[in-house]
Amino acid sequence: MTDPVGTGGRAVFLDRDGTIIEEVGYLDRAERVELYPWTIDAIRAFNRAGLAVVMITNQSGIARGFFTEAVVDDVHAHMAAMLAEGGARIDAYYYCPHHPDGKVPGYARACDCRKPGRGLVDRAAREFGIDPARSFVVGDRWVDVALARAVGAGGVLVRTGYGMSVEQQRPDDLTADAVVDNLIAAASWILGRCS
Ligand SMILES: [Mg+2]
Ligand SMILES: [Zn+2]
Repeated sequence: MTDPVGTGGRAVFLDRDGTIIEEVGYLDRAERVELYPWTIDAIRAFNRAGLAVVMITNQSGIARGFFTEAVVDDVHAHMAAMLAEGGARIDAYYYCPHHPDGKVPGYARACDCRKPGRGLVDRAAREFGIDPARSFVVGDRWVDVALARAVGAGGVLVRTGYGMSVEQQRPDDLTADAVVDNLIAAASWILGRCS
């Protein structure tokens, strides 16, 4: 197994909207990106601890025709630049552009990469030598926790984005390993389990 970023097989899979950046609905312009005030510190803490940081986001706006892959790439380049200014780094930016109810040919289909599907975690496992069972998923929706369960990772729900409102709507068959206020609280919970 290759280990190009020296993670020892451990990763944190971070949802994007409502977790790393403010939830603003369909994000269609890089200028609308706003990191939470604690995002840089949280990601830097993961970097220092030697965990791979992999963003995994559902971007059905592509399949729905609201924006293009180029726009999403631009958003991620903008995020990378803002993080770099603060000395933080996301190792990989993965997104699912699909949706079964979309209208754009090629993207309007079922897939295995839309969360809670595990396609993007499997891709990271291949590309970075990550062991999902030693890793964590953080997000503001229950699909993020469901993804954690699907791959055998720890699952953390944050109360930013949709998290505050969905916290009380937990699906019967799903339990988070932790529910915390935000990404920096998730980082301290996770790093406390990584020694
Ligand atoms: Mg989200
Ligand atoms: Zn997909």
